[in-house]
Amino acid sequence: MEQHLYEPVHEEFRDLCRQFLAREAVPHHARWEAAGLVDREVWRSAGAAGLLGMDVDAEYGGGGQRDFRFNAVLAEEIVRAGCPGLGFSLHNDVVAPYLTELTTDDQRKRWLPRFCSGDLVTAIAMSEPGAGSDLAGVRTGAVRDGDHWVLDGQKTFITNGELADLVIVVVRTDPERGAHGVSLVAVETGTPGLSRGRRLEKVGLKANDTAELFFDDCRVPAENLIGTENHGFYHLMANLPRERLSIAVSAVAAAERLLALTLDHARTREAFGRPIGTFQHNRFLLAELDTEVTIARGCATMGRLGAPYRAAVAPPRSPRLATDLTLPAPSRPDVARIQRRTVRLLVATQIIGGIGVTIGFAVGPLFAARMAGTAVAGLAQSAGVVGAGLLAVPITRIMSGHGRRPGLVMAYLVGAVGGVLVVLAAVTGRVPLLFLGILLFGGGSAANLQARYTAVDLAEPGRRGRQLSLVVWATTIGAVAAPNFAALADRTTSGWGLPPLAGPFAFSAAAFALAAGVLLVALRPDPLLTARRLAAAEAPTPGGGSAATGRRGAGLRAAWRVVRERPAARLGIAAVAVGHLVMIAVMSMTPVRLGEYHDDTAVLRVVGIVLSLHIAGMYALSPVVGWLTDRVGRRPVILGGLALLLAACAVAGSAGHHTPGLTVGLVLLGLGWSGTMVAGSTLLSESVPADVRPGVQGLSDLTMGLAGAGAGALSGFVMQVAGYPALTLLAAIATVPLLALALRPAPGRAPDEED
Ligand SMILES: Cc1cc2nc3c(=O)[nH]c(=O)nc-3n(C[C@H](O)[C@H](O)[C@H](O)COP(=O)(O)OP(=O)(O)OC[C@H]3O[C@@H](n4cnc5c(N)ncnc54)[C@H](O)[C@@H]3O)c2cc1C
Repeated sequence: MEQHLYEPVHEEFRDLCRQFLAREAVPHHARWEAAGLVDREVWRSAGAAGLLGMDVDAEYGGGGQRDFRFNAVLAEEIVRAGCPGLGFSLHNDVVAPYLTELTTDDQRKRWLPRFCSGDLVTAIAMSEPGAGSDLAGVRTGAVRDGDHWVLDGQKTFITNGELADLVIVVVRTDPERGAHGVSLVAVETGTPGLSRGRRLEKVGLKANDTAELFFDDCRVPAENLIGTENHGFYHLMANLPRERLSIAVSAVAAAERLLALTLDHARTREAFGRPIGTFQHNRFLLAELDTEVTIARGCATMGRLGAPYRAAVAPPRSPRLATDLTLPAPSRPDVARIQRRTVRLLVATQIIGGIGVTIGFAVGPLFAARMAGTAVAGLAQSAGVVGAGLLAVPITRIMSGHGRRPGLVMAYLVGAVGGVLVVLAAVTGRVPLLFLGILLFGGGSAANLQARYTAVDLAEPGRRGRQLSLVVWATTIGAVAAPNFAALADRTTSGWGLPPLAGPFAFSAAAFALAAGVLLVALRPDPLLTARRLAAAEAPTPGGGSAATGRRGAGLRAAWRVVRERPAARLGIAAVAVGHLVMIAVMSMTPVRLGEYHDDTAVLRVVGIVLSLHIAGMYALSPVVGWLTDRVGRRPVILGGLALLLAACAVAGSAGHHTPGLTVGLVLLGLGWSGTMVAGSTLLSESVPADVRPGVQGLSDLTMGLAGAGAGALSGFVMQVAGYPALTLLAAIATVPLLALALRPAPGRAPDEED
């Protein structure tokens, strides 16, 4: 069949493969078939010839070619040479992605150079006597014992099972959680407790050592965990499609080879004085075979299964499952329509929610100061920020399991309940109720923060930044107007017998309830669930890994482990947290500072104007900040944000009670926050693997909330004990660790910064 998939560079590689196989494999294959396994030396020769780890980075000795067509060419040539016993495809196509995508720096350094040289033969052990297609039923268990995993169980049908120096073993690490309790552990040869069983007799692939493996109290170092604990099933789901594609490529090549041999026979074999291929019946048969093989190649390379094969890049890890070929998936225009609608809706709810959140920020500290004293004002403010951070965890869990809609609705409703409790606290004069109310009020902030991720679930990759910043920017509209609504709400509700400053919280509660209602009714279909369906249906993940892979129950510990080992992720999360800490510390005490010199009637109006401008600084220019982040890079924008935060501390701290000076300081504060927040979030999202991104999103919001809460809590005390200028000085000093982190030279394009 005529092929349009390959370019001259692939054909050159094909020549290399042919020469290698003719020299190193074909002469030995009959012997290997008799022996039931190939010589180990052929692996090293293949490594030396550049046939192992074609898509492993060059720094580890790989080919650095993220183009699956090289893998496909080798698989085809192995079959055409009649040497299917070589387990290179399992090593290159199936195991490689686990070792390149899910491993730590240390693991990559330990394994990948030998993986590419052929000194480390690999295998993957999923199947068991009682679990094949239904992988969630694996029984081989791994129990954590100090620094080790202790494995017990049995695997079967393991390709390269006898020669393998490293086996990725699918184990059950949480017996209670079904598919959510499965992990991947790399077991190296020589590990006590690992033994090889029978080499299995097969109908074909005689030279391949398909074997049984046994694990008996097999102690494996804890650092051999691959990917995230209890996420093994998702890692498999992400990578098995590439295995299917690899099998499809080999199977089609085998069918083509058989057809070619058959045609040759039909042309040369004669009966009744003519070649047997000229008899009409045989011509029909051959034409039908040719049609079927052509269709098979089409399915493998032209259908959705083969989309990544055609693309001159490494296949994304979630191409459409072969078994999903019959499932309907939304067409592109549908997705675009859903996305437009989602963003419009998010913009609307972000405006409504922004009003509620900002009223809380503007009035909360004043209200708490009146009710319980200035020192407590900061603590009350912190309660809201802690609430937003803590609520991010259950909300991201709800989203992971059930979609964005229930998560966002729940968060806004919790915020609304919080607003009602604050009003009740004002009526009854009970301070603990005030704190509980403000804590839950944080649900509104959590919803507004998570909405930015919702905006990118279905966004085209090239438009993610703009769509995210559009939703962030929408907050401005509600937020800038909100503090002025506070005075109106206060006047309106004072007629109802509510204490002063309580009315705005009733208004916020109504705003959150409205946002929840709008999302409940209109956010259909759910963008995250749609993105997952698409991810399962086709190769490119439309909404980014986080949405598409949709890991359930991504734990905080797992997210933290991922962040800890990646310098870029550490810088990203630090930028978000420190920027927020400085912003909250200074911002939360500025209304109190203004309150020192303005009377009750004027203070709300002045605070309203100052905070409106501060919030405009935070949000209004976010699209520009996003654009700059893409144009000049993440680190420079983080550093720019830091410079603005320092300038804000200097200006506000030295302004005395000069309202315009404080206003300029707060605008700079807002702009600095925007820089660290947008660039930090972008860097963080890029630098972690797709499968743990939702967990990391929750961790980032939690860290940000806790940093802001700590700052808010301390700010009231610092204000009372040392005054506002000292507070701004301390806030400026708090930026030093981030400055050091951001100025640390980046190692070129850091290996953990993904595209
Ligand atoms: C040559 C060879 C190499 C292999 N290499 C490896 C390896 O390296 N690592 C590894 O882990 N495993 C390996 N395997 C095992 C392979 O992955 C399993 O054989 C496969 O997953 C099927 O599992 P099973 O054999 O237990 O069949 P079962 O799961 O018992 O299935 C039996 C039959 O039921 C059908 N079936 C199952 N579920 C459904 C369903 N829901 N709907 C309809 N029909 C269904 C199946 O299609 C099949 O026809 C290898 C197998 C072979 C033959």
